[in-house]
Amino acid sequence: MMKKIPTSHPRYLSLVTREQISEAMRHGIVHETGLIAHGRGEAFDYLLGETTIPPADVAEKIAASTLLCAKNPVISVNGNVAALAADVCISLAKSIPAKLEINLFHRTSVRIKKIAAFLRKKGAKTVYGLNPNAKIPGLDSDRALCEKEGIFTADIVLVPLEDGDRCQALQRMGKTVIAIDLNPLSRTAQAASITIVDNVTRAVPRIEHWIHELKDTKRSDLDKLIKTWDNTKNLAEVLSFISKRLNSLF
Ligand code: ATP
Repeated sequence: MMKKIPTSHPRYLSLVTREQISEAMRHGIVHETGLIAHGRGEAFDYLLGETTIPPADVAEKIAASTLLCAKNPVISVNGNVAALAADVCISLAKSIPAKLEINLFHRTSVRIKKIAAFLRKKGAKTVYGLNPNAKIPGLDSDRALCEKEGIFTADIVLVPLEDGDRCQALQRMGKTVIAIDLNPLSRTAQAASITIVDNVTRAVPRIEHWIHELKDTKRSDLDKLIKTWDNTKNLAEVLSFISKRLNSLF
């Protein structure tokens, strides 16, 4: 049972999110190490002011443009993403349209099935990842396992809460990797083609907002927009935002 948290609590949203993730762990959707990853994310979210900062919104707009131009876009879902952002990922996948594929570091067939059932209960029609028939080259962990129709042949992969190794391996395959990661210093953030430094719970709905805004834009105009993107420069803007914000607090 989820613990009842008084809405008047100053950290209400954060506490509800913690309950959500710990309940998902009790149901076998989140791996226990997912709680540690969540804690690291929370710390970085504090530095941002727990809001979508302007450079993140630009990244979200570019991510939407890229997803609209994709031939086979795939959203990769792990335990934490399912626990915190299942509804919004399903909704985003429908609006692009994109495929959903489960990919886990601590992979067990029980956990994959639980996450697939959870996503289906929430309205996902097709969920990839249950029957892997391909491997991402150069990765030793189970994260290499994927489906040919899904991540293996995807041109654009949206990877919320990724680890750096798979991000790099996907890029070596020639894919565009869009990462959502609250830590601008992580290997994933540094390696991705488009890094969105924002909470997955805010970033996914914001990408969907841009999908709706841009869906009637000419393909050539979207291409022009995408060409303006410089990931290193955007990450520098994120770090500068954080340091200015921290300085202004004292
Ligand atoms: P890397 O290999 O990229 O250096 P890592 O070893 O830190 O990453 P993980 O332990 O898999 O990778 O951590 C997942 C990442 O997800 C962390 O950087 C954390 O800041 C981030 N994260 C956690 N929760 C959220 C969230 N709700 N939204 C966005 N990012 C999050």
